[in-house]
Amino acid sequence: MFDGLFRRYKDRVLAPALRLIGGLSPNTITVLAFAFGMTAAGLAAGGWLWAALAAWLMNRLLDGLDGAAARAQGGATDLGGYLDIVLDFAVYAAVPAGVAVSGGFETGRLVALAVLLASFYVNGASWMMLSAILEKRAQGAAARAEPTTVTMPPGVAGAVVTFVFFTAFLIWPAGFPALAYALAALCAISIGQRIFWAVRNLQAPTTPTVDFAARAWPVVIVGGGAAGLAAAQALRRRGVESVVLERDDVGAVWTRHYDSLKLNTHRDASALPGLRQPRDYPCFPTGTQVRDYLADYARAQGLNVKVGLTVCRAERDDAGWRVITQGGEYRCADLVMATGIWSQPVVLNLPGAERFAGRLMHSRDYRNPAAFVGRRVLVVGCGNSGAEIAAELGEAGVPTWVAMRSGATFVDRPHSGLQMSLTSALLRHAPRSLVQRVLRARRADFRDLGLPREQIAEAEIYPVVGFRLPDAVRAGRVHVVAAVTALTEHGAQLADGTQLEVDDIVLATGYRPALGPVAEWVDLADGWPVLDGFRSRRTPHLYCLGYRYSGFEGWLQSIGRYADQMADQLCADRSS
Ligand SMILES: Cc1cc2nc3c(=O)[nH]c(=O)nc-3n(C[C@H](O)[C@H](O)[C@H](O)COP(=O)(O)OP(=O)(O)OC[C@H]3O[C@@H](n4cnc5c(N)ncnc54)[C@H](O)[C@@H]3O)c2cc1C
Repeated sequence: MFDGLFRRYKDRVLAPALRLIGGLSPNTITVLAFAFGMTAAGLAAGGWLWAALAAWLMNRLLDGLDGAAARAQGGATDLGGYLDIVLDFAVYAAVPAGVAVSGGFETGRLVALAVLLASFYVNGASWMMLSAILEKRAQGAAARAEPTTVTMPPGVAGAVVTFVFFTAFLIWPAGFPALAYALAALCAISIGQRIFWAVRNLQAPTTPTVDFAARAWPVVIVGGGAAGLAAAQALRRRGVESVVLERDDVGAVWTRHYDSLKLNTHRDASALPGLRQPRDYPCFPTGTQVRDYLADYARAQGLNVKVGLTVCRAERDDAGWRVITQGGEYRCADLVMATGIWSQPVVLNLPGAERFAGRLMHSRDYRNPAAFVGRRVLVVGCGNSGAEIAAELGEAGVPTWVAMRSGATFVDRPHSGLQMSLTSALLRHAPRSLVQRVLRARRADFRDLGLPREQIAEAEIYPVVGFRLPDAVRAGRVHVVAAVTALTEHGAQLADGTQLEVDDIVLATGYRPALGPVAEWVDLADGWPVLDGFRSRRTPHLYCLGYRYSGFEGWLQSIGRYADQMADQLCADRSS
């Protein structure tokens, strides 16, 4: 939400204003901004609040412009980051002080002012300290020729929130104490967030400190996707070293999906613990960007990852696990499976499939509509992949049908990471009946388009994100039909008795956990591992991570938390 607002502010306000003031140097603009800020404070103290508001808005506009002007003029130096910040902070002290004294020197207001300024400055200082530490780390990584992404944990009292509060002081001076305490509380939360983040993450070494014998490790993790990396990081924070064995490259799965794949969860709520997704990524990054982020994550956290090693099977003896790869054997006490679902597509065994004359493929092998031009396509299944692929084909002018068995549940795309985080935090702790009601209310109803909702408990539904398919159905580009019962030579037999003629069929019928290497050590129920927490119910010292999907938060959003829980369980088992 704030990203969008800020982009609109940059496009609609800053860019035209920059053209207007033309050749002013960034330094001049900074001084002008300061002058307007102090004028705002003086006017507020004198009780001319509307004039103060205008001067304050000019201060903010000019403050945004000095950096923009410096960039537009080819990086011409402005007064230097620190002086700029000092002048800015002087204005940030003067404006509320002006409002506080506008109604006379009343104790209540002055106390509120003192609390506000103290929390505001400590918040600013914590931000600056953390920035400096992170910058130093980035420089160190650059010196070692390791790419890294500098990350700053979000604070709730960010620039936009502060701007809103300061503007509100001038519009509603009578509410100054209440507003000041509210902003002070947000600053305190931001400080707490940063301390919590720093304690959890800053001591993580950026290079491996333990040099284990190449093939014997306390823990082996199979799979170098998001789950495997999060597991390695969570274990390291608990002092347990591990090695990640990955058959491909880190995060490579994300580039094997269809070409147009983008995250449907917001960037800011889809990062692993300790490293934000880069700020210059779009809100919904592409598969390649997610791959790059994961590779960067493995490097920045200094995780031990061995790529190009396929784990074929695991065996147990008295000394623990023998993990057999095509490149030799590894030994470990505890084994974590984080192999994801992508390599285990569910291919329906439809009667008559051998007679079907067209192309029959799983959604895993679909790339883009180009291969389907001039053909009629049936997409079987209406989960996230099926909905996206059917809509994409329909939008490209390919005659498309989507077959649905048990309904589909749609939610709007998240507007911000903050919204996703708050919603999931609330729903995780709310009573189940309330969760059911909230989810039902948030999920859209497209029965009029022939897209009925699934009839199972709301919290167990992993919804389809975005309304792209309903929009395509409404526009007549995709047609919804009943479930497929069998295939014929030229198409499909549907559950309602109709015969549908198509040239190609895409099975968007989902995936199951890729647990082949430990098949004899874990029980499966409908393809999913039977676990006590994260430990295989059948075998001690075997843990499975990443095979649990929550109905009200993104998978990537929850994996850091699940990795912590898995690591806690593994460590507790070790010490018992
Ligand atoms: C099409 C699609 C879109 C998705 N979009 C989103 C989204 O927008 N937001 C979201 O939160 N979640 C999304 N998900 C869900 C989830 O985030 C991904 O499935 C994610 O990739 C899961 O991470 P993972 O580490 O468990 O598995 P993967 O990313 O699949 O990683 C598993 C790794 O294990 C390796 N591996 C497997 N077997 C072996 C072996 N025998 N030996 C060695 N290595 C092995 C693989 O090569 C792979 O690198 C999506 C899933 C799919 C399928």
